[in-house]
Amino acid sequence: MSVLQMLQERSNSTCELCGSKENLSQYTIPPSLNENVANDVLVCKTCLDQIEGKVEMDSNHWRCLNDSMWSEHVAVQIMAWRMLQRLRGEGWPKDLLDMMYLDDEALALARATGEHEDAANKIIHRDVNGVVLEAGDSVVLIKDLKVKGSSMVAKQGTAVRNIRLDHENAEFIEGRVDGQQIVIITKYVKKS
Ligand SMILES: [Zn+2]
Repeated sequence: MSVLQMLQERSNSTCELCGSKENLSQYTIPPSLNENVANDVLVCKTCLDQIEGKVEMDSNHWRCLNDSMWSEHVAVQIMAWRMLQRLRGEGWPKDLLDMMYLDDEALALARATGEHEDAANKIIHRDVNGVVLEAGDSVVLIKDLKVKGSSMVAKQGTAVRNIRLDHENAEFIEGRVDGQQIVIITKYVKKS
């Protein structure tokens, strides 16, 4: 029997995280490289795309972890732990993490990808309304801004496309205004 078949059998061909029966695939938990029924989970595309960061995390989707964190399979417990860590800023995942129990070996593996550190240290850029800003987004200036070190004023209402994020500081982004790359404070922009 292949690993995929074993996963299908143990999960009854459902996503082991959310229970969906659609678009299932085998996921080997990093940093494991070799497929192995102990290190793999069967997940749906909705879960997988978020696990791999291809789409933004939908925290409501992950309410499913409320059930799947109690799986008897360690690989599923580890993925539940990692996703809860990633979301713990939301509050409720933290409560679930407090209830969860992983043995030492599983906990070491769960921590291996640094999901718990990312959650704590991640710098998140937000606009004036608290909307998360990502590299490549477009924003509009909500007030006139004097540009440091020049006489230029970036006017309120100016659209700034394809912003860059300052990875050390959540208050700063960069963007091009009138052909000049400038630093802009996030609280003076609105995502467009
Ligand atoms: Zn799923």
